[in-house]
Amino acid sequence: SGAVRFENVRFGYDPERPILKGIDLDIPAGATVAVVGPSGAGKSTLARLLFRFYDVSGGRILIDGQDIAQVQQASLRAAIGIVPQDTVLFNETIGYNIAYGREGATAEAIGEAAKGAAIADFIESMPDGYETRVGERGLKLSGGEKQRVAIARTLLKDPPILILDEATSALDSRTEAEIQATIERIERGRTSIVIAHRLSTVVNADRIVVLDAGRIAEQGSHAELLRRD
Ligand code: ADP
Ligand code: ADP
Repeated sequence: SGAVRFENVRFGYDPERPILKGIDLDIPAGATVAVVGPSGAGKSTLARLLFRFYDVSGGRILIDGQDIAQVQQASLRAAIGIVPQDTVLFNETIGYNIAYGREGATAEAIGEAAKGAAIADFIESMPDGYETRVGERGLKLSGGEKQRVAIARTLLKDPPILILDEATSALDSRTEAEIQATIERIERGRTSIVIAHRLSTVVNADRIVVLDAGRIAEQGSHAELLRRD
């Protein structure tokens, strides 16, 4: 489950200024599709529509054949995990930050999620472990560590659909490469939409869609797009 389909999707924050101008996109369950393109093309907007932060102004979005406009907001959002570009953590413990939104999670499940995000060893190396406070008066996490906390949070949620919105683009290239391997692992078995600004970070995608000024300019495999350049 988790097939995603955009059918002639149109949207503008301001009705006078269209941002997405008829997007058709079919993502089979379990596939990874990368959306690349210049800043302002509408990549994040596409993701926000899937999560129903906004409603489409035309066309429709289907998950497993069902129009998301007909799906309860809570069950829609339970089906989708988002790893944003800049994860903002609460001035709380690391455990709290991983379990946020999953308040009933067991310590064991939190530990498993941290392991999957490759941040368990780091957390367990601290005297207070998962009780370590982060933020202003606690531990300062690097950008890469914060993204691993976001990945752990998503693993705990275990959604069939994943949106990675420039999840590694704020990191230095070495940290980006390290986290890339973890991301490829969590994508397995989920329908993944990877928003990126560079082709080089989405080599593993089943298909790459180039968005430009609210339209799909071209699409194909990584090799096909490189050949056309
Ligand atoms: P991308 O992710 O490709 O950089 P976005 O989807 O963030 O593009 O933005 C597409 C266009 O929509 C841009 O012109 C941007 O300024 C505009 N936009 C984005 N978010 C909002 C918003 N909340 N309100 C109004 N305009 C917005
Ligand atoms: P749940 O309780 O099912 O986790 P939420 O609505 O709290 O539902 O969040 C769902 C997912 O969306 C989480 O992965 C969360 O990190 C992410 N998310 C929520 N709000 C935003 C936002 N404004 N920008 C980016 N990601 C968000």
